[in-house]
Amino acid sequence: MNRQDIAYATVTELAAGLAAGQFSALELTDELLARIAAAQPTLNAFVSVDPDGARTAAKAADAARAKGEAGPLTGIPIAHKDLFMTEGLRTTCSSKMLEHFVAPYDAHVVTALKQAGTVLLGKTAMDEFAMGSSSETSFFGPVRNPWQLDSVPGGSSGGAAVAVAAGLVPASTGSDTGGSIRQPSSFCGVTGLKPTYGICSRHGMVAFASSLDQAGPMARSAEDCALLLTAMAGHDPRDATSLPRPKEDYRREIVKTATKPLDGIRIGLPEAFFGDGVDAPVVAAVEAALTELRALGAVTVPIALPNIGYSVPVYHVLGPAEASSNLSCFDGVRYGHRAAQYTDLLDMYKKTRAEGFGDEVKRRILIGTYVLSHGYYDAYYLKAQKVRRLIADDYQAAFKQCDVILGPTVPTTAPLLGSQTQDPIKMYLNDIFTIGANLAGIPAMTAPCGFTSNGLPIGLQLQGPYFSEAQLLNIAHRFQQVTDWHRRVPKEASHA
Ligand code: GLN
Repeated sequence: MNRQDIAYATVTELAAGLAAGQFSALELTDELLARIAAAQPTLNAFVSVDPDGARTAAKAADAARAKGEAGPLTGIPIAHKDLFMTEGLRTTCSSKMLEHFVAPYDAHVVTALKQAGTVLLGKTAMDEFAMGSSSETSFFGPVRNPWQLDSVPGGSSGGAAVAVAAGLVPASTGSDTGGSIRQPSSFCGVTGLKPTYGICSRHGMVAFASSLDQAGPMARSAEDCALLLTAMAGHDPRDATSLPRPKEDYRREIVKTATKPLDGIRIGLPEAFFGDGVDAPVVAAVEAALTELRALGAVTVPIALPNIGYSVPVYHVLGPAEASSNLSCFDGVRYGHRAAQYTDLLDMYKKTRAEGFGDEVKRRILIGTYVLSHGYYDAYYLKAQKVRRLIADDYQAAFKQCDVILGPTVPTTAPLLGSQTQDPIKMYLNDIFTIGANLAGIPAMTAPCGFTSNGLPIGLQLQGPYFSEAQLLNIAHRFQQVTDWHRRVPKEASHA
């Protein structure tokens, strides 16, 4: 493989190259570290890069391979979103509050991917504490979309999506509370999956909204996401919501061969996902993808999700409520930033939190404490919980008529930097198609399915019943076998 091929190779291809001795894990690591350094001033995808740690891990991976102990991810360079705790390497959540925070232990998924032999290159930028849809709320400055540098990459896992899209790492972890894996993946032309709630342990993942947060993989293909998820998933007694299920191989559907691979698969099309407000090029790309999927044997059926229209307001009651509680630990005593000057304890709390948190985080804390307050709890929080149940029930009813649900991941393509920062409601509407899966706890993924005429990626979303990850990944994989949207790469001159 030449250098350009290596930069944009899939995990599966890199694993083959490593196995064949075409390059070592150390050479691969050095190549990608150089690309990260060259791209960082333009794209700002990383908060921290760890060249020494990466080289040490790469050498260990090469040594394991020499001893015949290599698995499918041994020596594969990856990045982690900067909300996964990494022992010895700072974990900032892109916030001033945690600017210098170094965790004393690894998150569960970090340990799992380390044990699988991956090589951690660095931590990717995000919206502060994962609150946002554009990666513009990062304390370390906005991240840019490699397809068009004046556009946002989406968020909150924007740095992760950019790192994959720009050929800086073949895969990254992300987290998804309301769309933060899927929306930036869609905006950057990469593949990403939010698993069923409880599949990946949240131990060591800085909490935003605990009943919605879920870790997942972001990569160049569905097959790569399956490989990553197989390593990340699994029961962890340290997270009370981690599901005690046997280990799964998420590639099991992918490796099956079939002539009409999607024969008999019923794809549900909710009217709500194709209505007003979806950009015409997005609708056209998703329709074209449906034609491909029908040719592979799938059939489509209209379905209804009657309460899905309430998902954004429900999310913006429940998410902030949980966040206001979760973020109370950032008080200047236990972690991170503490104001330099204060008069007494209360003053220290106030100044620390006023200085440490950005505007969007403060907005969510204010809304969260308000909806949980004695006088408004029933009217907002309790009501939102009830509607959350109705939305989850809608999905259960829909999955009696179809195997998966398909639609656009986001109604638009990536907006220009700065175009939504003054209008939080507009920003919140980015997630109108993604939030339902978090509220219901079901798995959902995005895969590239086209481009606008000015070169911005478009993604399609697949949602499925609980534990249908292997099937979602298989459908996306079959689509990727007959299309090449996921293999397009942005022009390099601008950023590397
Ligand atoms: N964009 C959504 C928000 O602003 C979702 C964020 C996420 O999934 N972490 O909260």
